[in-house]
Amino acid sequence: MRLILLGPPGSGKGTQATLLCERLQLEHIGTGDLIRSAMEHHTPMGERCRPIVEAGGLVPDETVNGLIAEHFNRMTPETGFVMDGYPRTLSQAEAFDRLLTAKNSPLTAVLEIQVEDEEIIRRVGGRWSCPKKGCKATYHTENNPPRVAGICDRCGTELTQRTDDKPETLRHRLEVYHRDTEDLIPYYKQKGLLRSVVGHGGIEEIYNKLIKEILPLSVPMQRSSG
Ligand code: AMP
Repeated sequence: MRLILLGPPGSGKGTQATLLCERLQLEHIGTGDLIRSAMEHHTPMGERCRPIVEAGGLVPDETVNGLIAEHFNRMTPETGFVMDGYPRTLSQAEAFDRLLTAKNSPLTAVLEIQVEDEEIIRRVGGRWSCPKKGCKATYHTENNPPRVAGICDRCGTELTQRTDDKPETLRHRLEVYHRDTEDLIPYYKQKGLLRSVVGHGGIEEIYNKLIKEILPLSVPMQRSSG
């Protein structure tokens, strides 16, 4: 399966992408994670992105398109994936289409998680994540708390809050979503790929809604028992 998860920041995309990948054995490709990792390693690209990410803006299309193209060139063509945070503009969506066409790997579906801005602002305040490379588990103080406050259940690393989750930055990220990323909804709808679910309720409830949308589309590449 080749999936894109669309939704505003804080809609639960990252959590759902992690679950889909674990349970359907797909690769989780998050541009936010790739960019944060470049920032942590102080690479030239990471340093160019830092002020933009910290202000809640979008990194230039060529930079993310390049990151994704490099990533796909290292992957075997049969690998199923979930895109989390990419594409985010029409120009990125067109570049991604060209890449997938060149690799003869058409998308299976684009899953949109719908959540209103006010609900997002409430949720993001409680969001914590594991900074450890290769783990990156996400938690929420109300909906999905770790067993021990402040500590990752999976690897024991101390959890952190993202600087771009601060309320003013979050509001800006929401504006950017409405201005640039929402255009992708009619784009993928017109291609017959869009499946939308309302992102209210618990994590498993939303996961089940997503699964209901994609299971009818499943192809032999998927190794899930469910
Ligand atoms: P995320 O974790 O997906 O919310 O991404 C964190 C930040 O990384 C975003 O607020 C952007 O600054 C940057 N970023 C991630 N993905 C993209 C993308 N596809 N296009 C432009 N900027 C991105």
